[in-house]
Amino acid sequence: MSSLLIKNAQIVTLDPVQPILPKGEILVEGDKIAAVGATVAAPEGAEVLDAGGMLAMPGLINAHHHLYSSFARGYAAPGEPAATFTEILERLWWKLDLALDMEGVRYSSLVALVEAIRTGCTTIIDHHASPSCTDGSLDAMEETFREAGLSGCLCYETSDRNVPGDGVAENERFIRKTQASGDGQVTALFGLHAQMTLSDETMEKVAAVCRDTGAGVHVHVAEGTADEEDCLAKHGMRIVQRLEKFGLAGPKSIFVHGIHLDESEMDIIARTNTMMVHNPESNMNNAVGTQKMLALLKKGILLGLGTDGMTSHMISSARVAHLLQRATLGDPRVAFCEACRMLLENNAAIAGRCFPEPRGKLAAGQLADIAIFDYDPTTPLEDGRFYGHLLYGLNVAPVDTTIARGRILMRHGKLTTLDAAEIAAKARECARATWSRIH
Ligand SMILES: [Zn+2]
Repeated sequence: MSSLLIKNAQIVTLDPVQPILPKGEILVEGDKIAAVGATVAAPEGAEVLDAGGMLAMPGLINAHHHLYSSFARGYAAPGEPAATFTEILERLWWKLDLALDMEGVRYSSLVALVEAIRTGCTTIIDHHASPSCTDGSLDAMEETFREAGLSGCLCYETSDRNVPGDGVAENERFIRKTQASGDGQVTALFGLHAQMTLSDETMEKVAAVCRDTGAGVHVHVAEGTADEEDCLAKHGMRIVQRLEKFGLAGPKSIFVHGIHLDESEMDIIARTNTMMVHNPESNMNNAVGTQKMLALLKKGILLGLGTDGMTSHMISSARVAHLLQRATLGDPRVAFCEACRMLLENNAAIAGRCFPEPRGKLAAGQLADIAIFDYDPTTPLEDGRFYGHLLYGLNVAPVDTTIARGRILMRHGKLTTLDAAEIAAKARECARATWSRIH
């Protein structure tokens, strides 16, 4: 088993036993953390990484991403600007995803994984769509996660919008594949676009696979008002009631956004212990409203943070979550600690339900996912003060070294597993080819 000793680091463990070590060491054995302390005993021959006084913390977790959205950067849909969220879906996302081929799936994914490594993110829960090449698309993505060295929980966006039931077979196949492999680096959920593009017939099929495999769903819920209106008009019930009717609420499922949920839906989510993910930057961009983040947390719902394909920068997502609540509520007292806890604690708890290995703390037995920031605090960094450094210091500090599953994926700013320049060059070609197929 390989051993890696990280020396001379300021360590933010996020472990209550020893939250902050001004100067400490971390021993990694294989893919796990073996010891953290002021000094730790390392076996002879261990590789030594001198952190040079930089700040080590647990690798960040993104609880909702769309890696394929990398190819939207700089693309402008022709015609009048979309005026509603449904128009944004119709004019941009449903055209872009339809234009992706397998090479596009691969390179859009790699682009986002490079960005994740560079921002200290080591675990991603992704939601993928490529309806012109559905079958095998999750394998193509799995390959990119394995090449990069990151952990990924993948799913395919089932929807009836192109072909009825598109994605059911791909999700089922991939769930069974990852369950059989059981290595924990790449796992799966059952992906659903949103209830408004899913018939009862497709929902029945999804429910049958989830019952049989024990998998949860990963679904957009009440992102725009049109989703609730559609559900009420077509099914005479609200979205969460419809999802629960098919047995799709529960501790292994992730309901994303939930901006327009009513009280009864929040209560179902709390009662069924369903996970939720907030994506503030995306919500602002799509002008769909502000999630009632504090109300959801008050109900005891496990609410994490994602980027929804906007970026791969998780500290930015937490910072915007904090600012957006204050701006919306007109209350400068709220949402600072909550946003930080969502990123650091709740995302770790969500990952704990999606992957077999515990992560999110620098402590013995945890997965060795570590981000080392080139950050020299200019105010005291002590227990109880870290959140301020996180949102107002580390948010713009460069990540020097990223370690995932015990492997160094970036050392002193240089990627070790991926060739960023080659990926960028190939991605530019692929993106242009993808755009040329949009009609
Ligand atoms: Zn999304």
